Amino acid sequence: MVRNSELESADKVPAQVDVVIVGAGFAGLYAQWRLSKLGLAVQGFEAGSDVGGTWYWNRYPGARCDVESLEYSYSFSPELLQEWEWTEKYATQPEILSYIEHVATRFNLRRRIRFSTQVSSVEYQSAESRWVVRTDRGDEVSARFCIMATGCLSLPRRPDFPGLDSFRGRVFHTGDWPHEGVDFSGRRVGIIGTGSSGIQAIPPIAEQAGQLFVFQRTANYSVPAHNQQLDPSHQRWFKNNSSDLRDRMRRSSVGTLTDRNPVSALAVEPEERERVFEAAWLRGGAGFTRCFSDLLTSAKANEFASEFVRNKIRSIVQDPQVADLLCPRDYPLGAKRICVDTGYYATFNRPNVRLVDVRRAPIIGVVEDGLRTSAQSFELDDLVFATGYDAVTGALLDMSIRRDDGMSLKDKWSTGPETYLGLMTAGFPNLFFITGPGSPSVLSNMVLSIEQHVDWIANCVGFLTSSGKRYIEATQQAEGEWTQHVAAVADKTLFPHAASWFLGANVPGKPRVFLPYAGGVDAYGHKCREVEQSGYPGFQLS
Ligand code: FAD
Ligand code: NAP
Repeated sequence: MVRNSELESADKVPAQVDVVIVGAGFAGLYAQWRLSKLGLAVQGFEAGSDVGGTWYWNRYPGARCDVESLEYSYSFSPELLQEWEWTEKYATQPEILSYIEHVATRFNLRRRIRFSTQVSSVEYQSAESRWVVRTDRGDEVSARFCIMATGCLSLPRRPDFPGLDSFRGRVFHTGDWPHEGVDFSGRRVGIIGTGSSGIQAIPPIAEQAGQLFVFQRTANYSVPAHNQQLDPSHQRWFKNNSSDLRDRMRRSSVGTLTDRNPVSALAVEPEERERVFEAAWLRGGAGFTRCFSDLLTSAKANEFASEFVRNKIRSIVQDPQVADLLCPRDYPLGAKRICVDTGYYATFNRPNVRLVDVRRAPIIGVVEDGLRTSAQSFELDDLVFATGYDAVTGALLDMSIRRDDGMSLKDKWSTGPETYLGLMTAGFPNLFFITGPGSPSVLSNMVLSIEQHVDWIANCVGFLTSSGKRYIEATQQAEGEWTQHVAAVADKTLFPHAASWFLGANVPGKPRVFLPYAGGVDAYGHKCREVEQSGYPGFQLS
């Protein structure tokens, strides 16, 4: 497979283009393909040295998708679908990265992307109706349209523990993992964080490390992946029926084939409830939260599922005190994103693994040879941060997005993001977000949502261009109503009952607003189609 970003990528940036696309993950690449097809001049920028986004940065051991590989892939090219063979039910990070690299090469997408280049500011010039995009390498390009494919989980968060700089050992973050890999053999390793990243990384690190300390503040619910090699006949079936299957995914609640069971957990006898939970556990994966209709809306139904998982933890982990500490109790299952693991709970039966409760005795600082909690000191050679991201809005607000009259996106969103359909925000014409706040984004199969967003944006840009219109902008009214709708839908669920990154609760000072749209991929897609087909009501076109 060719991997030659240096030769193929754009080293010269034109002064003017039609479209700038920031980011070269799944979203940025598909946007490159789709917008170029319209015959427009496109310029991409990517902070990483090559394509891949999430799968370029997250090279930690154990990293893999938790939406099944066949579903977590592009649908835009029937040839691509037929020629690419996934090897496992849940592909590893290297395999997903190879897939994205293959897509970039096959469709010749690197040639208009400038890599190792961070977009630092994006400023709207109202007189010309154009955006001026500036980078950390001194590029300046003017564009009619700007597409932010900057990712929902692309700005890693590392708590600023006192003394961190004095630590003599190695420090890693799962979201910015060394490309050459890390050898933990025989070392004393501390890992902070037990979200999806920590839960994936802990078992393989434990197998290598001399001693692993897992610093847990909040126990998480995790369901086994039961990962396996993909059966070739299953893959053939998926490819032969992909058109129907993709339609089914688009009409589902989260964009996968495992849709919600319409039956309430409260409507069945206890034995039947246990049978359904057990079947979902044996099947494995995040579909566990959809094995009844009301696990994310009824606290009572949810408690049955939560207790089922706690019982599983108690049955796997031999030390009752450790098992007890691993049992989540203070929020409903699924209200923080459910984790999918391979051997996570059993890892705590290993003699070289110790679970440390940093809820009861918080981390107070790092010293040159380790880490201190309020109760104890731990001598460490390596410190791994699996502490997550400034999610959904983080990468957008990390650059300066403003208008020439001084209004900035940061100011506008100081009390929380406001968008119409998660696609645009009033006051910032011709600026599009992919999987932005107020869209299903992180509550869905992201590749499916990315394709849906890019298609909508490309159709919109095509329409504006062919009809001689200069710009499109969300109206204040449509944006206000949509933002209220997003909040109202979330309030009918159990999501707001957890201090999660869905709500911005993991970032000090971030407004507590439920970020994604919980109304489902199906309803959302329907609304977007309706808007597109009826001449873009809720948007002002000039
Ligand atoms: P990203 O892949 O995040 O790409 C955005 C790119 O934009 C990055 O490469 C970044 O460097 C670049 N960028 C950002 N700001 C700038 C700037 N100012 N200048 C230049 N470049 C910039 N989702 C699922 O649906 N299923 C899964 O199984 C799944 N697993 C995941 C596993 C991990 C470890 C993580 C972290 C996330 C996972 N996700 C999953 C979510 C995942 O982020 C999306 O599925 C998808 O990869 C997002 O693609 P994207 O192109 O929108 O964003
Ligand atoms: P995360 O879910 O935000 O988890 C971060 C962890 O770090 C939490 O356990 C958090 O504890 C802990 N933490 C943060 N600050 C801390 C501090 N100061 N002291 C102690 N602990 C601290 O981040 P993530 O695990 O990287 O996952 C983010 C998202 O990426 C996932 O939800 C998922 O959408 C995606 N992802 C998916 C997969 C996959 O399976 N395909 C893998 C990785 C990531 P608290 O809970 O107490 O805050």
